[in-house]
Amino acid sequence: MTDLAQAVMERCDLLATCSEDPGRITRPFASDAMRRAQNYVHEWMRRAGMQVRRDSIGNLRGRYEGAGPSALLIGSHLDSVRDAGKYDGPLGVLVAIAAVQRLHDANRRLPFAIEVLAFADEEGLRYGSTYLGSRALAGQVEARDLALTDADGITMASAIESFGGDPARVANDRRPSDDLLGYCEVHIEQGPILEARGLPVGIVSAIAGQSRFEIAFSGEAGHAGTVPMDRRRDALTAAAEIVLAVEAMAATQEGLVATVGKLEVEPGAANVIPGRAVFSLDVRHADDNVRARVAEALLARARETARRRKLSVEARAVSSNPAVRCAPRLVNLLTQAVKECRQQPVQLTSGAGHDAVVMSSLTDVGMLFVRCKGGVSHNPAESVTTADVGVAIDVLSRFLDLMPQK
Ligand SMILES: [Zn+2]
Repeated sequence: MTDLAQAVMERCDLLATCSEDPGRITRPFASDAMRRAQNYVHEWMRRAGMQVRRDSIGNLRGRYEGAGPSALLIGSHLDSVRDAGKYDGPLGVLVAIAAVQRLHDANRRLPFAIEVLAFADEEGLRYGSTYLGSRALAGQVEARDLALTDADGITMASAIESFGGDPARVANDRRPSDDLLGYCEVHIEQGPILEARGLPVGIVSAIAGQSRFEIAFSGEAGHAGTVPMDRRRDALTAAAEIVLAVEAMAATQEGLVATVGKLEVEPGAANVIPGRAVFSLDVRHADDNVRARVAEALLARARETARRRKLSVEARAVSSNPAVRCAPRLVNLLTQAVKECRQQPVQLTSGAGHDAVVMSSLTDVGMLFVRCKGGVSHNPAESVTTADVGVAIDVLSRFLDLMPQK
C-alpha cells in the first residue's frame, strides 16, 4: 500500500519531465509533451489490467471490466498551466490507476466496471477553452471550439488531427450515461483548510458557483496640476471605492470570496486624472442565491458611487456558472470510506472549478481532496506527502468496495 503511494509519487515526478518548457512544467493540450505523458499513462493503465484507448479529442480512457454492465468513472486531467506544479491533475489520474492496480494485483473484479479518464485539457492553456476534455464526454464541444486558434494560429481542429485524433468525430466522444454509477475525482485541495486542520484528505460537498463581471467607470481626464479637487470626475478613485467594498463584502459571509483581479486605467499617465477605469469582478459561493445577491449588491454599490461622483458606469456580465452539488450518495460513501480508513471526515467546498463540474451534466459527481503544502497550486511549489497519497488510495479503494451496484 505504501508501495503504491511511492509509485504514484515517482510517476508524478516522471510526468513532470513531460514538458514543452525546459526546467519547468508546461503541458498544453495536444502537445508533444502531452503525447509523452500519455505514453506513460497508457502503459500504467495497461499494466493495471485496463483496456486503453484514446478518444477523438485526445482523452485517454482505460477500462477495467467488472462482473456487471454498469460503470464508475474516475479521473482528472493531464494538462497543466504554464510553470505548473506536479500534482494538479496528474495526482487524480495516478491515484485512480493505483486503486485499479490494487484490484488487478488481487485478481479481483467488482460488480461494475471502472473507467479511468485522463482528460486532455482542463486548464485551457493553449486555447483558453476550459474543461475541453470532459466537455467532449458530455457532448458539449462545438464547431466554434474547434475553430479556435492558438498563439501560433493553429486551429484546435488541426491540433487534434496532428495529435492523432479526429475533429470530425468529437461528437462520438460523448459518453452515454445510462450505465453510469457516477464520476469521482481525486484532486489536491488548492487551499489551506486540510493543512490547518491536520487532515490528509477531505470530502468535497460542492463546487462553488462563479460570476464574472467587467465594470467600467467613465469620468473626465484632466490635468493633474490644474483641475481643483472639487471639480474632478476621477474614474480610478471610484474604482478604488469598489475594490475595497468588494473586499469588505466578502468578509461578511462564510464561504464567500470576491476578487478584483484586473484593473486598467486610461489614459494612464502620472500627470493625468484618470478618465476611465475598467476592472474585473469575480464572485464565488457554493449557494447560487448568496452569489446572486452579493453580485447585485456590489453592482448597486457601483451605481451609487457613480451617481455620487458624477460618473457613468457600465457593468457587463462576462460569465455565470452555477454551483455544483456533489451527490449526497457519493458524499456519504466517501465519508464512510474515510472513516473506515481511520481518518476524520471533513467536508469542504471547492472554490476552484474542476472536470467534475462538466461531468455533473452526465452523472452524479463526488470529489476527494488531498492536503497540499501551504494550499499552493498552479505553482512549481505544489507539494503533497507520500503518506497522504497513501490515504487517498486507501479511501478510493474503500469507496469502490462500498459502492452499491446500480
Ligand atoms: Zn486541476
